[in-house]
Amino acid sequence: MEHRTSPTPTGADQQKNQANRLAVLVTGASGGIGRAISQAFGEIGWYVGVHYYQNESAAETTLGQVLKVGGTGSTYAADVREPESVRRMFDQFSRNTQGPIAVVCNAGIGQSELLVRHADHIWDNVLATNLTGTFNCIRAASKVMMKQRAGKIINITSVVAEMGNKGQANYCAAKAGVIGLTKAVARELASRNIQVNAIAPGFVETDMTATLPEAAKEAMLQAVPLGRVGTPEDVAGMAVFLASSEADYITGQTLNVDGGMVMA
Ligand code: NAP
Repeated sequence: MEHRTSPTPTGADQQKNQANRLAVLVTGASGGIGRAISQAFGEIGWYVGVHYYQNESAAETTLGQVLKVGGTGSTYAADVREPESVRRMFDQFSRNTQGPIAVVCNAGIGQSELLVRHADHIWDNVLATNLTGTFNCIRAASKVMMKQRAGKIINITSVVAEMGNKGQANYCAAKAGVIGLTKAVARELASRNIQVNAIAPGFVETDMTATLPEAAKEAMLQAVPLGRVGTPEDVAGMAVFLASSEADYITGQTLNVDGGMVMA
């Protein structure tokens, strides 16, 4: 079974994609970056599993956008911290499709707290959502992908995993964990033709960053050589590329989409 697509398909490619039901599950698709990623896959005719946790109406809005631009899809609810909840979601998704060809592990939270004041439950929740949640989704998706002998796993980490950030010990540790997880799983699944990569966005304007103090936003902007904040669409373009056959020879990598904030 051939499951390939180009990031810039022709109309004929789009029809072919729909016939093959190329399917992606995007976690956190009720949020800003997940919505843009979902829409970008919709634009190239994929079936999009629009995942949400609590905000069902935002997920319905995302699904509406996917359908409007020519994709198909459904909404799926799960708490990514809970393995059973994630397993049920992937079972349901696989019943509706031929299984995920790509999964974008995008669900995440930030709960900033200075180290000395850091409450245990905040540490646990940030690690559980960002790191264990990604692990739970990868594990569930890989079972189907291994049978298909094809798949693309795309994890959303952050530049702060590479740079560190004051007040974000929990988030930086979790997102750095996602980079290690990406490399380990990339090695483990390579023989099954499954590519595993991470995207590290810089400062992107979404609900997550909307509550940051203006001074913090201004300081972050000063650190961006390209001189502007990122958009969810900037990240979405990279996700679609990594899910395409053009990225078949890329695995275990972290691709920064950050306007040049981090240069290795
Ligand atoms: P957002 O708008 O706040 O969306 C967060 C998403 O995560 C929502 O869909 C939310 O679902 C979901 N979520 C939260 N807790 C969950 C749980 N326990 N189980 C399942 N889903 C859960 O955030 P965003 O800015 O789009 O961020 C998306 C990803 O990019 C995150 O991993 C974030 O860390 C990363 N990132 C963001 C930036 C940035 O500047 N915005 C930079 C670097 C990395 P509900 O709303 O339905 O509950």
